[in-house]
Amino acid sequence: MMKVVKAPAKINLTLDVVGKRDDGYHDVEMIMTTVDLADRIQLMLIEEDQIQVEVNIGHVPNDKHNLAYQAARLLKDQFSIKSGVKIYIHKNIPVSAGLAGGSTDAAAVLRGLNDMWSLGLSLEELAEIGLKIGSDVPFCVHGGTAVARGRGEILSFLPSPPPCWVVLAKPPKGVSTKSIYQRLNLEGMKHPDTEGMIQAIEEHHFQGICQRLENVMETATFELAPEVKNIKQRLIQFGAEGTVMSGSGPTVFSLTSSESKAYRLYNGLKGFMDNVFVVRLLGNRHL
Ligand code: ATP
Repeated sequence: MMKVVKAPAKINLTLDVVGKRDDGYHDVEMIMTTVDLADRIQLMLIEEDQIQVEVNIGHVPNDKHNLAYQAARLLKDQFSIKSGVKIYIHKNIPVSAGLAGGSTDAAAVLRGLNDMWSLGLSLEELAEIGLKIGSDVPFCVHGGTAVARGRGEILSFLPSPPPCWVVLAKPPKGVSTKSIYQRLNLEGMKHPDTEGMIQAIEEHHFQGICQRLENVMETATFELAPEVKNIKQRLIQFGAEGTVMSGSGPTVFSLTSSESKAYRLYNGLKGFMDNVFVVRLLGNRHL
């Protein structure tokens, strides 16, 4: 039996860090939404008692370090599945980009194998299992648009933002999320207007959404990787309605309601960097 599952990337419309916890994690408050830039995951059931992973690019692990492998392992062990699965991952989402590429692959494997192995788990149950892999996995299990609190696993769902174009640009140099967290200055930080963003989304107010795009990690990432700031400034100069960094970076994205403007932004950046994408917001949750 074979199945293909789509694993869409997420972007952060807002990202706030609201405190540090005793367990070393930070409490976050962020609004995430899925975009139509997706990895393609092919699942094939095999008789051997094995989980095999193949990836179309070299620098992503194809063993137990792959989050998709970990997702299959959790389901297989918890439900004592004696056969195996071959997971072929076609990466379209740039790696270490702030787009939850690994988490969404894990979430897609949870959804796909839940069907193929007839486990009958709800998305809530899959999200709970996914949390063992990472704090972005529960959101990726559901998709759509949500406010995420706690470590990112406490989700309140929102309606979809109005349809628009998303131009994503990922500079070549990655940044380490850990070093960004170490540089965060919780005291002096200017926090996003999360409540205002929720209201703008609920009212389908596109300009209101664009005005409130904000990410508290930008300052630290810009210090470590000034080219990320340059890209943001270029996108603003090209006339994007709203521009912000996603996650801990380095991907920066712009929202625009005009297709021609989206391609103007794309062409403006494509001349000097490889990883530029024009996609639509996805909006809808997985069912
Ligand atoms: P986040 O936005 O959740 O911080 P990210 O988009 O910054 O995630 P990923 O693309 O998920 O980062 O990759 C982070 C690391 O995870 C990489 O070093 C990569 O080797 C590893 N990894 C494990 N499984 C995968 C996978 N299926 N796809 C991509 N990376 C993976």
